[in-house]
Amino acid sequence: MKLCRFNEGRLGLVLGEEVADVTAALRLLPARSYPFPDHDLLVANLDAIGAEAARLAAAGAERHALGSLRLLSPVANPGKVVAAPVNYLKHLAEAREDKGIHHQNQILEIQRVGMFLKATSSVEGPSAGVKIARPDRRNDHEIELAVVIGKTGRNIAAGDALGHVAGYCIGLDMTVRGPEERSMRKSPDGYTVLGPWLTTPDELADPGQLELAITVNGEIRQRANTRDLIIKVPELIEFASSFYTLKPGDVLLTGTPEGVSQVYPGDLMVADIEGLGRMAVAIHAD
Ligand code: MN
Repeated sequence: MKLCRFNEGRLGLVLGEEVADVTAALRLLPARSYPFPDHDLLVANLDAIGAEAARLAAAGAERHALGSLRLLSPVANPGKVVAAPVNYLKHLAEAREDKGIHHQNQILEIQRVGMFLKATSSVEGPSAGVKIARPDRRNDHEIELAVVIGKTGRNIAAGDALGHVAGYCIGLDMTVRGPEERSMRKSPDGYTVLGPWLTTPDELADPGQLELAITVNGEIRQRANTRDLIIKVPELIEFASSFYTLKPGDVLLTGTPEGVSQVYPGDLMVADIEGLGRMAVAIHAD
């Protein structure tokens, strides 16, 4: 199942080049009032919502051309975004060699440096584009496989980890290069792009065998395969959950391969991950 969010918070079931408007399924969500839960309600109720979405689509829900919609982040309210630094060997080498990337920061292996958090306020969908927050700095694209957690867990064993996954999407971990902490440089508004939609695990044979690529203005910049991740998806979930309770809607960004490069206002990025779709994201001036 491929579920998207579009326009003014509508819910869609992606069917090829069309989207069935299944917003009516959201009435199954439990009514909540302040204080709101620290997880994403839709993801926490994905089985029920997905079944109702399929029923509505089969019953003749209104359809739209995919290209006519403004796609939002498939996760509206992630409780946290946990990200892996340098999780591909060739990107580790690239980061250590390029002063424009490392800025005298010591680039350590992920096993030693661990993971970091991005502000949830940095999450946007592809249609918003990315506004360059610090034009005085180098601002880079990083394409990453994004994993959306579906089930609460702490100290999740790698062997059980994929059972905690609600789905996958493309993630762009946009980055201001410089000397500050990663959590600051990677958290300006809009610097975490998620999209184009959430693909549930039944549609994906193996998250550890996915081609990923990003072009800027039609020129290929990053191309890799998730088989080259240093710490794979199950072990990342085990690692993250040894520090944090993972909850429905939490997002794990799994790290970027080599080929990160600067983007400028006016550029158009097109990101593609095998089985998860393709999304175009424009770069704007702030
Ligand atoms: Mn990254």
